[in-house]
Amino acid sequence: MEVDYRRAVARVLEAVAPCVGAGKVADYIPELATVDPRQFGFAVATTDGQVHCAGDADTRFSMQSISKVFTLALVLYRDGETIWRRVGREPSGSPFNSLIQLELERGIPRNPYINPGAIVVTDQLLADGGDGFATLHRLLRTETGNPDLDVDDVVAASEAGAGHRNRALAHLMAGFGNMVNPVDDALEHYFRQCSVAITCRELAHAGLLLARHGIRADGTRLLARSDVRHLIALMMTCGTYDAAGEFAYRVGLPCKSGVGGGILAIVPDHCAVAAWGPGLDDHGNSVSATAALAAFADITGHSVF
Ligand code: GLN
Repeated sequence: MEVDYRRAVARVLEAVAPCVGAGKVADYIPELATVDPRQFGFAVATTDGQVHCAGDADTRFSMQSISKVFTLALVLYRDGETIWRRVGREPSGSPFNSLIQLELERGIPRNPYINPGAIVVTDQLLADGGDGFATLHRLLRTETGNPDLDVDDVVAASEAGAGHRNRALAHLMAGFGNMVNPVDDALEHYFRQCSVAITCRELAHAGLLLARHGIRADGTRLLARSDVRHLIALMMTCGTYDAAGEFAYRVGLPCKSGVGGGILAIVPDHCAVAAWGPGLDDHGNSVSATAALAAFADITGHSVF
């Protein structure tokens, strides 16, 4: 399928205009509440080397839960399948920071893309490598092509200060014997990974790792093809929390969202797409980025369905 991406990106920008500024910025992390909601960025990076951007594609935003895809990638690379003893692979149908399901299911999170699942993955990365965040940081710097990519320390401190639910989730898991490191250590790495400040252009570049089935920007293989298939299958079923069904219906592509308002979508063999708008819906997914990805799927015909 030959797609004119330049034209598609321009049409997405037109289609999304009525939604820009819609939704509510995340305020449970106080620093995120200070972001201007009337911004919108969009970037497509293709496996054949094209990059097309629109709007605020070079403005930094908080990566938040999108980082969970990359920590899982690193854990699969290092440990293979053993992580699945500690976390499941089913959609949760519950909010990403819910405690109820975790108690009922004896400290085993439903999947690696809700908060407790991602905390377990970060805990494993920390146990494996001694410095979980540094490993992620290196990977993101090389795959985004930005050697200066960094954490927004103000957001990290804000998140740590307001991180009561994440602490509760991590302690609950520790109570069930599903934490390896001291809870505070694992959480420090988790808060830092969520607070990476990234642009749509950079995120689309990093997403190519998945669109190319595990091949890094320098042409070497990081992940087995089957690991990437698993990572993006989970994006489809769990990447947008309790709205994954709606995403499959509207967008039809594996997506991972974050409460900073970003969403990464993967079209295997073709491209990685990053959309960002800070206003969120009730599930914690960006209203404008969701609309943009739905328009992108309609315009390009890219969909797994
Ligand atoms: N850092 C956020 C949190 O722990 C990540 C949640 C998200 O992006 N959905 O709550």
